[in-house]
Amino acid sequence: MLSVQPKGKQKGCAGCNRKIKDRYLLKALDKYWHEDCLKCACCDCRLGEVGSTLYTKANLILCRRDYLRLFGTTGNCAACSKLIPAFEMVMRARDNVYHLDCFACQLCNQRFCVGDKFFLKNNMILCQMDYEEGQLNGSFESQVQ
Ligand SMILES: [Zn+2]
Ligand SMILES: [Zn+2]
Ligand SMILES: [Zn+2]
Ligand SMILES: [Zn+2]
Repeated sequence: MLSVQPKGKQKGCAGCNRKIKDRYLLKALDKYWHEDCLKCACCDCRLGEVGSTLYTKANLILCRRDYLRLFGTTGNCAACSKLIPAFEMVMRARDNVYHLDCFACQLCNQRFCVGDKFFLKNNMILCQMDYEEGQLNGSFESQVQ
């Protein structure tokens, strides 16, 4: 990405709009940048360093880490199977992730509050009542732990 300033006309920096007088300049996104001006909009880390990849989205220039944090995904919600964006709060149960809104007993739709017990059976989230009822009726295949 780092290239030597071509002779003749000095390029303007797309970051600060000043002329680039340095010997080296960065070319990224079809624009020219001071080495210090091409940085992540979130964490200010310099993106001109060798090996760093830059990501753009919605007019933001981001480092990989911030891009993934903002626009990446956590995975699919185990309840509604839609993608969960990385910035969204999620509930986790074992290997599953859930939207906060989706994290409810899948039989009676009861939401869980902090400290409430929930159970994961046959990949379904259950409240204590439904879980125990299921156990009594034997409607769950017994699971070898
Ligand atoms: Zn600049
Ligand atoms: Zn960053
Ligand atoms: Zn969901
Ligand atoms: Zn329930």
